[in-house]
Amino acid sequence: MSSVSVDAWMQEASTVITANAERLTELDSAIGDGDHGTNLTRGFRAVIEALAAAEDELPPGRRLILAGKTLVSKVGGASGPLWGTALRRAGRSVGDAALDGPALADALDAALAGVVELGSAEVGDKTMVDALTPATQALRTAVEAGEPLADAITAAADAAAEGARSTVPLQARKGRASYLGERSIGHEDPGAASTVLIITALGRALE
Ligand code: ADP
Ligand code: MG
Ligand code: MG
Repeated sequence: MSSVSVDAWMQEASTVITANAERLTELDSAIGDGDHGTNLTRGFRAVIEALAAAEDELPPGRRLILAGKTLVSKVGGASGPLWGTALRRAGRSVGDAALDGPALADALDAALAGVVELGSAEVGDKTMVDALTPATQALRTAVEAGEPLADAITAAADAAAEGARSTVPLQARKGRASYLGERSIGHEDPGAASTVLIITALGRALE
């Protein structure tokens, strides 16, 4: 059965976030403070460095926990603690096991639960939760239907993209964008947009 390599996932996420940093920052300039692209670019670069310095024998769960801790310590914005918590919780869920379909489904559930616990956002509040929730559900449904992991990840990425698009007409109720009130309507949430990239990166990290 195929599984996701944590190091490859983080590397792919870093690459795609760096390539899209300008767009993420533009989205955040419209309804936030314009730092989302640079926040995540800096954070994921630090994650790559931390993983490269880690022992080769460090198991997948511990690698995810290291990645999460690095994001928390390197990113000042909301997205650092949120994605940091997500990856740490995912890591605790995975433990020493391989990140195969069922383990990834559990890991994403744990990640989402961590984000919701920390940020108290619900679906419809115009945050990363609007992308991560449908992605997590789609992945689990596909895995439980016995679909190959690559197809399950594609379904999750499609669901995340749909979720991110759904944030456009919403008024933000959490985070900086909520300070704008009705003026947050009509823009895609930057954290939902970056979540699509991070979920999509899973599909290029299969081994
Ligand atoms: P900051 O807003 O501190 O500058 P970023 O720009 O890096 O941080 O990240 C902003 C993103 O964080 C938002 O687009 C949103 O998706 C996410 N976010 C902010 N607050 C919350 C929250 N309470 N729960 C979930 N996600 C949140
Ligand atoms: Mg910001
Ligand atoms: Mg900021």
